[in-house]
Amino acid sequence: MSLELREVGEDIPRCAICGAPAVGPCASCHAMVCGDCCVLTEGGVELHAICVRCDRKKGRTLAPAWRGLLLAGALLLAGLALYAALALGLFR
Ligand SMILES: [Zn+2]
Ligand SMILES: [Zn+2]
Repeated sequence: MSLELREVGEDIPRCAICGAPAVGPCASCHAMVCGDCCVLTEGGVELHAICVRCDRKKGRTLAPAWRGLLLAGALLLAGLALYAALALGLFR
């Protein structure tokens, strides 16, 4: 992985969030971020540095996804219970 210098306006890359000298690009949105504005996150076996904006975004999208999964599981169980009840009622 090499750094892409797309917007070369100055020699030192600046943090996209606070404007301080950046240390590297965000693994998610590839915006240059400084040490204060990035968060280390574990993605599988690799350690990624993502900016605080992406970290907040991810945190927001992760919660409803989990809730949806739990809801789907609960509905599935309810459906199975209903099916079992109906099957027992039919066979009687
Ligand atoms: Zn910064
Ligand atoms: Zn980012």
